[in-house]
Amino acid sequence: MNLNLEKKVFLVSGGAKGIGEAISRTIATEGGIAVIIDPSIEAGENLIQELSSKNQTAYHIPMRLLDPDQAMDAVNMAVSRFGRIDGIVNNAGANDGIGLEQGSPVAFRKSVEQNLGHYYDLVHFALPYLKKSFGSIVNISSKTAITGQGNTSGYTAAKGAQLSLTREWAVELLPYGIRVNAVIPAEVMTPLYQRWLDTFDHPEEKLNLIQSRIPFENRMTTPQEIANTVVFLLSDLSSHTTGQHIFVDGGYTHLDRAIGRE
Ligand code: NAP
Repeated sequence: MNLNLEKKVFLVSGGAKGIGEAISRTIATEGGIAVIIDPSIEAGENLIQELSSKNQTAYHIPMRLLDPDQAMDAVNMAVSRFGRIDGIVNNAGANDGIGLEQGSPVAFRKSVEQNLGHYYDLVHFALPYLKKSFGSIVNISSKTAITGQGNTSGYTAAKGAQLSLTREWAVELLPYGIRVNAVIPAEVMTPLYQRWLDTFDHPEEKLNLIQSRIPFENRMTTPQEIANTVVFLLSDLSSHTTGQHIFVDGGYTHLDRAIGRE
């Protein structure tokens, strides 16, 4: 199947590591151009070099999206370099553990702002270009938006809002032929996930326990499995799919976790 991504330009926030890295790689492998907005200079530049050695195209904007002006700058840089934007993958985020007890009103607001604000900002500033290209938007949310996790009010509030905005934007952008979908991971081994695992006394045991509860094959979802679904949603092959919340989680959120266990 041809995804028809050749020469199309996609912004990927947090696109240098973890899930975002797999998405950037997959866009480039399919002939598209990944514009990676990520603060990690080393990871970003290594990825660009590796892809260009395979005649694939990606562009790194070394930036942590914190305020609207930065999102505007990132959009302008992408357009001045490539002249178009065909899609956005809102992916950057961090589970920062701001809870009711271990948190504060100020920390809660900051967490929501940092996990949610740039999702809106990138789409807002890129909209004129997405209208021209009949673009596609994919929001990466989290199963914590559906199940809760405990001790992470800011992150889950932002992740839930991303699902609401997926529906809201899908409606608002119907007249322009722009599709908007969300992909919901649960357990994916990434630098972020490893940092979280390392907060436990026995990370290996914790990982084994989690994997034993993932119904399909008792294993983590790979970043590539998330990327495959995201890139499908960016592509013309998903041309009648919009406003959807798609769980790529081995059944973790919805299936009976007792199934298949001793
Ligand atoms: P990750 O390993 O931390 O990679 C994310 C990348 O985004 C990092 O390079 C990070 O840079 C960068 N980043 C963070 N905040 C940014 C910002 N404001 N602007 C630009 N770049 C930023 O994370 P991941 O596990 O791949 O998670 C990616 C997305 O998936 C997140 O939205 C997360 O909520 C969601 N998710 C992940 C899992 C999972 O199991 N991994 C489960 C559910 C949902 P720094 O490292 O310098 O901060």
